[in-house]
Amino acid sequence: MKRVLVTGGAGFIGSAVVRHLAGELGVEVLNVDKLTYAGNLESLRPVSNLPNYRFARADIVDRGALDALFAEFRPDGVMHLAAESHVDRSITGAGDFVQTNIVGTFSLLEAARAHWSGLDADAKAAFRFLHVSTDEVYGSLGADGLFEETTPYDPSSPYSASKAASDHLAQAWMRTYGLPVVISNCSNNYGPFHFPEKLIPLVTLNALAGKPLPVYGRGDNIRDWLFVEDHARALWTILTTGRLGEKYNVGGRNERTNLEVVETICDVLDELRPAARPRRELINFVTDRPGHDQRYAIDATKLEDELGWRAREDFASGIRRTVAWYLDNEWWWKPLREGVYSGERLGLGAAE
Ligand code: NAD
Repeated sequence: MKRVLVTGGAGFIGSAVVRHLAGELGVEVLNVDKLTYAGNLESLRPVSNLPNYRFARADIVDRGALDALFAEFRPDGVMHLAAESHVDRSITGAGDFVQTNIVGTFSLLEAARAHWSGLDADAKAAFRFLHVSTDEVYGSLGADGLFEETTPYDPSSPYSASKAASDHLAQAWMRTYGLPVVISNCSNNYGPFHFPEKLIPLVTLNALAGKPLPVYGRGDNIRDWLFVEDHARALWTILTTGRLGEKYNVGGRNERTNLEVVETICDVLDELRPAARPRRELINFVTDRPGHDQRYAIDATKLEDELGWRAREDFASGIRRTVAWYLDNEWWWKPLREGVYSGERLGLGAAE
């Protein structure tokens, strides 16, 4: 696969995918992104001057814009990451989530289908469309069990409901029209270039500034954390070697309670940047999020056994790398914290 159209490539995971493809693998990449508050071209500095990287600002809801980009770039693969992704924002305003995640995915599937239909037989057989989704579509787990690819969908938030709808559309475009689709469902990601409204960067930067560290409820919700660069490699593996029409769960077997995550960040920061008082003292329990899923945990056996992918980073080393990255890269996060791009100052609400 030589020419890949990536949607949402200015976001957290999308930018890791673009850096991996364009920077490390030498793939030709067209990054299609609307640049919402969550999109940041600064995350693409390492590849922005490469001849095999291009950017086009477009809304995936805009079918005309997509048709023109497909006609000009003629990709042999699509990786669809563009989405509204923040659960708390979906609770206070679901409209953008329905538009981008559902209508935008529909529009992209149709544009991809039109492009794919017009390819010659060999190119048609080689074409692949990867729809990137989340484990949140499966709802919440109790104390036991893991999400498998066969787990029934049971989304709780407007975000996860909109992603579930988009997964169903992608699957229907495969079954109904034969579009060569593969779907991935991943657990919570963390790592460099993560927008500072999400739990790990929010806590890191608040702790660094000596501000309160908001934790929902009792902090006992469990998430299964995956380092973003492991996810980027998994997505390339699934796009290029995954079986068409299949779903693959992606996860790193790193289950942690939210409180454990926050405490780990405090301890790493205390070690790397000592403060007068232990940063754990800043932890502040706040009213729980409505519909807050208790536990997510992924069984990634299918991806590991069938396609040979393995997570490389465990949580202890990944969180250290991440905290150290935030300490070293104030140029990236400071303008975001100050609302220079989005025009809004980020609140101190708890997040994931
Ligand atoms: P993000 O919010 O950091 O980035 C989303 C990107 O999409 C931004 O660059 C934004 O500008 C762009 N975008 C939004 N609406 C658009 C539109 N209408 N047209 C074009 N571009 C648009 O999100 P992320 O955390 O990088 O997540 C990427 C994908 O991975 C999403 O589909 C998300 O559901 C999925 N996912 C995320 C996680 C996670 O932990 N962050 C886990 C599993 C799956």
